[in-house]
Amino acid sequence: MSQHFNSTIAALATSPAVSGIGIIRLSGPDAIELTQKIFVGKKLSEQAAYSMTFGQIVNTEGNIIDEVLISIFRAPHSYTGEDTVEINCHGSRFILSEVLSLLIKQGAQLAQAGEFTMRAYLNAKMDLSQAEAVADLIYSETVAQHKLAINQMKGGIKDSIAALRTNLIDFASLLELELDFSEEDVEFANRKNLIELVTKIQNKINELLKSFELGNAVKYGISTVIAGRPNAGKSTLLNALLEEDRAIVSEIAGTTRDTIEEKMNIRGLVFRFIDTAGIRDTKDTIEALGVQRTLDKIQNSSILIYVADVIGLSPEELWKDIHEVASVDQKIIILANKMDLFTVFDYTQYANQFILLDHIIPCSAKNKMNIEFLKNKLFEIAIDEQSMQDTEVAINARHRDCLNRAMIELNEVHQGLHSQLETDLIAQSLRRSIYELGGVTGEVSSEELLGNIFGRFCIGK
Ligand code: GDP
Repeated sequence: MSQHFNSTIAALATSPAVSGIGIIRLSGPDAIELTQKIFVGKKLSEQAAYSMTFGQIVNTEGNIIDEVLISIFRAPHSYTGEDTVEINCHGSRFILSEVLSLLIKQGAQLAQAGEFTMRAYLNAKMDLSQAEAVADLIYSETVAQHKLAINQMKGGIKDSIAALRTNLIDFASLLELELDFSEEDVEFANRKNLIELVTKIQNKINELLKSFELGNAVKYGISTVIAGRPNAGKSTLLNALLEEDRAIVSEIAGTTRDTIEEKMNIRGLVFRFIDTAGIRDTKDTIEALGVQRTLDKIQNSSILIYVADVIGLSPEELWKDIHEVASVDQKIIILANKMDLFTVFDYTQYANQFILLDHIIPCSAKNKMNIEFLKNKLFEIAIDEQSMQDTEVAINARHRDCLNRAMIELNEVHQGLHSQLETDLIAQSLRRSIYELGGVTGEVSSEELLGNIFGRFCIGK
């Protein structure tokens, strides 16, 4: 699927901030020739690929703009698959914009966001899920995000999906053949084998769909709600976690009326902490709204940290609160707060009432006692490290949507095969499922889809 572009594109590949070095990148059939027009130094057409050469960039009046190093990559052995030049300039905004406009004057086109990577994809240097991973890699800020993006870029879900899809195509062709010979009532496609294959693919899709949640959490943060009654110490806890005074701490009950969200990186995982309004019956309308919002936030979060003031809240009341607010499949940490006001003996008695719960942590948010322990616990329960090793993570919502649609079609195939539905109907669903699976790797792609995907990139990538 190689595609030839007539235009040569150029863009700043590094950040537009002042820095030691700034790189301008060109890609396309005239990349080398265009650069030569503004370059004084060695003859670039004779320059070996993967090598650098020193020289000067001069403007139309012959004035030196900068001393630069130029790297040459020749098609098809470059990132885009085209001739590519990288001009290493000094990182002054003036120099970089001058060099870029000189190139544009000579006929280069300013690249659109993601256009280099789009060319790489269209020149079959990578598949769509790999190209998307490049964007994730650029935006990755933590170890876990980086790891997911790298895995994806290396091949990720593409390989397993592509193989299964090829098997499906084989079956689909056999079914089509049967349709051609429909009058003779022959069966080329072994139904039992087809059911087995469909089941295998469904299992794989389920696995990938599950992994999407992990991928999402890694990318956007694991939603972690901090809830509890007013004055339990929620804001103090958030501050202790973030090591700063972001949330308002006060002794008047019901002060955190709205929710506050802060992100934090714990051992390479991003947690989104949501400090909420205290939960209590209230006649104050604004506070009641806050309470309702808290309950909604709790329902939609992955982890609930329930902060209990051990002095003010009996174990019975705590049990009641947890039952009322937590959702069934939620991971809960109970933080027995204000332990500085309690003795160890008291705590043991208190904690004994929660023997069934794994995660009750004695703590003093005010004195920052056990905060590190809490962070470790959060990491542990948020992710079993095993799943992080899994290379096949459906990394974005587009993959998830394709996989969901493929699943619907495969269910049709499955049911159709069991109920001995007519072959042409089964073949139709099979074709659609093949189409949807192809959407993940980009074997099936529309212009609109490509625009969407590559628009997320920065210019110059
Ligand atoms: P929130 O309403 O749950 O957000 O509670 P705050 O964080 O505003 O805290 C309410 C009061 O409890 C403040 O006076 C805090 O200083 C106090 N507090 C919070 N954590 C602790 C703790 O671990 N020990 C003690 N002794 N006081 C605490």
